Amino acid sequence: MNLVYKCPHCNASINAKRNIILAAESVHNKSKKGLVLLHEEIGNYTVAMSSSLTIDNGEEVNFFCPVCNESLNNMQGDNLASFTRIDEAGEESTIVISRIYGERCTFQVDDKKQVKSYGESVQKYLNPEWFLRQE
Ligand SMILES: [Zn+2]
Repeated sequence: MNLVYKCPHCNASINAKRNIILAAESVHNKSKKGLVLLHEEIGNYTVAMSSSLTIDNGEEVNFFCPVCNESLNNMQGDNLASFTRIDEAGEESTIVISRIYGERCTFQVDDKKQVKSYGESVQKYLNPEWFLRQE
Protein backbone atom coordinates (compact mmCIF):
# COMPACT_ATOMS: atom_id res chain seq x y z
CA MET A 1 0.00 0.00 0.00
CA ASN A 2 1.28 3.46 -0.84
CA LEU A 3 1.34 6.48 1.42
CA VAL A 4 -1.75 8.55 0.62
CA TYR A 5 -2.74 12.04 1.65
CA LYS A 6 -6.42 12.85 1.22
CA CYS A 7 -8.77 15.76 1.26
CA PRO A 8 -11.14 15.32 4.23
CA HIS A 9 -14.01 16.74 2.14
CA CYS A 10 -13.91 14.91 -1.21
CA ASN A 11 -11.56 12.02 -0.30
CA ALA A 12 -9.39 12.64 -3.39
CA SER A 13 -5.74 11.80 -3.01
CA ILE A 14 -3.72 15.03 -2.97
CA ASN A 15 -0.17 13.65 -3.16
CA ALA A 16 1.95 12.69 -6.16
CA LYS A 17 5.68 12.12 -6.65
CA ARG A 18 6.55 12.58 -2.95
CA ASN A 19 4.65 15.88 -2.77
CA ILE A 20 1.42 16.96 -1.12
CA ILE A 21 -0.28 19.41 -3.47
CA LEU A 22 -2.42 22.18 -2.01
CA ALA A 23 -4.06 25.22 -3.55
CA ALA A 24 -3.23 28.40 -1.64
CA GLU A 25 -3.88 32.13 -1.58
CA SER A 26 -2.45 34.91 0.55
CA VAL A 27 -4.91 35.99 3.26
CA HIS A 28 -4.02 39.67 2.79
CA ASN A 29 -3.62 39.76 -0.98
CA LYS A 30 -6.02 37.37 -2.69
CA SER A 31 -4.41 37.98 -6.09
CA LYS A 32 -1.45 35.96 -4.84
CA LYS A 33 -2.63 32.39 -5.42
CA GLY A 34 -1.33 29.15 -6.84
CA LEU A 35 -0.20 25.67 -5.89
CA VAL A 36 2.03 24.70 -2.98
CA LEU A 37 3.99 21.46 -2.95
CA LEU A 38 4.90 20.12 0.48
CA HIS A 39 7.19 17.15 0.95
CA GLU A 40 5.15 14.09 1.96
CA GLU A 41 7.68 13.08 4.62
CA ILE A 42 6.56 14.57 7.95
CA GLY A 43 9.13 17.03 9.27
CA ASN A 44 10.66 17.71 5.85
CA TYR A 45 9.90 21.38 5.21
CA THR A 46 11.01 21.53 1.58
CA VAL A 47 8.39 23.70 -0.16
CA ALA A 48 7.83 24.53 -3.82
CA MET A 49 5.28 27.03 -5.11
CA SER A 50 3.88 27.93 -8.49
CA SER A 51 5.17 31.22 -9.93
CA SER A 52 1.86 33.09 -9.37
CA LEU A 53 2.20 32.53 -5.63
CA THR A 54 4.91 34.69 -4.10
CA ILE A 55 4.66 34.38 -0.35
CA ASP A 56 7.05 35.99 2.12
CA ASN A 57 8.14 34.55 5.42
CA GLY A 58 5.52 35.22 8.08
CA GLU A 59 2.71 35.70 5.55
CA GLU A 60 -0.53 33.85 6.25
CA VAL A 61 -2.16 31.74 3.54
CA ASN A 62 -5.50 30.01 3.13
CA PHE A 63 -5.23 26.39 1.97
CA PHE A 64 -7.75 24.67 -0.29
CA CYS A 65 -8.10 21.18 -1.73
CA PRO A 66 -6.79 21.31 -5.33
CA VAL A 67 -9.53 18.88 -6.39
CA CYS A 68 -12.78 20.13 -4.79
CA ASN A 69 -11.60 23.61 -3.73
CA GLU A 70 -12.97 23.23 -0.18
CA SER A 71 -11.09 25.08 2.55
CA LEU A 72 -8.57 23.03 4.51
CA ASN A 73 -8.24 25.73 7.18
CA ASN A 74 -9.03 24.64 10.70
CA MET A 75 -12.04 26.28 12.28
CA GLN A 76 -10.53 26.00 15.76
CA GLY A 77 -6.94 27.01 16.28
CA ASP A 78 -5.79 30.03 14.38
CA ASN A 79 -3.39 29.75 11.48
CA LEU A 80 -3.68 26.01 11.02
CA ALA A 81 -4.88 23.71 8.27
CA SER A 82 -5.39 19.96 8.16
CA PHE A 83 -5.80 16.96 5.86
CA THR A 84 -5.85 13.17 6.15
CA ARG A 85 -2.87 10.80 5.92
CA ILE A 86 -3.05 7.05 5.37
CA ASP A 87 0.32 5.37 5.76
CA GLU A 88 1.72 2.23 4.12
CA ALA A 89 0.16 0.07 6.86
CA GLY A 90 -3.27 1.60 6.32
CA GLU A 91 -3.16 3.63 9.54
CA GLU A 92 -5.16 6.82 9.25
CA SER A 93 -4.17 10.06 10.97
CA THR A 94 -4.87 13.77 10.64
CA ILE A 95 -2.00 16.09 9.74
CA VAL A 96 -2.23 19.67 11.05
CA ILE A 97 0.12 22.29 9.61
CA SER A 98 0.72 26.00 10.14
CA ARG A 99 -0.71 28.47 7.60
CA ILE A 100 2.10 30.94 8.32
CA TYR A 101 4.72 30.61 5.62
CA GLY A 102 8.11 29.72 7.08
CA GLU A 103 6.67 28.36 10.31
CA ARG A 104 7.89 24.81 10.79
CA CYS A 105 5.20 23.08 12.73
CA THR A 106 3.31 19.85 12.08
CA PHE A 107 0.99 17.81 14.27
CA GLN A 108 -0.04 14.25 13.59
CA VAL A 109 -3.19 13.14 15.39
CA ASP A 110 -4.02 9.42 15.22
CA ASP A 111 -7.40 7.73 15.64
CA LYS A 112 -6.76 7.35 19.39
CA LYS A 113 -6.25 11.14 19.64
CA GLN A 114 -2.54 10.71 20.32
CA VAL A 115 -0.68 13.79 19.13
CA LYS A 116 2.86 13.78 17.77
CA SER A 117 4.48 17.10 16.95
CA TYR A 118 7.31 18.04 14.60
CA GLY A 119 9.23 21.19 13.70
CA GLU A 120 10.93 23.98 15.64
CA SER A 121 7.90 26.34 15.62
CA VAL A 122 5.75 23.79 17.39
CA GLN A 123 6.05 25.43 20.84
CA LYS A 124 3.76 28.20 19.63
CA TYR A 125 0.90 25.71 19.55
CA LEU A 126 1.96 23.69 22.59
CA ASN A 127 -1.22 21.81 23.27
CA PRO A 128 -3.62 21.66 20.34
CA GLU A 129 -6.51 20.84 22.67
CA TRP A 130 -8.92 22.71 20.43
CA PHE A 131 -8.31 20.00 17.90
CA LEU A 132 -9.02 17.13 20.28
CA ARG A 133 -12.25 18.76 21.39
CA GLN A 134 -13.51 18.96 17.85
CA GLU A 135 -15.26 15.56 17.83
ZN1 LIG B 1 -11.29 17.92 -1.83
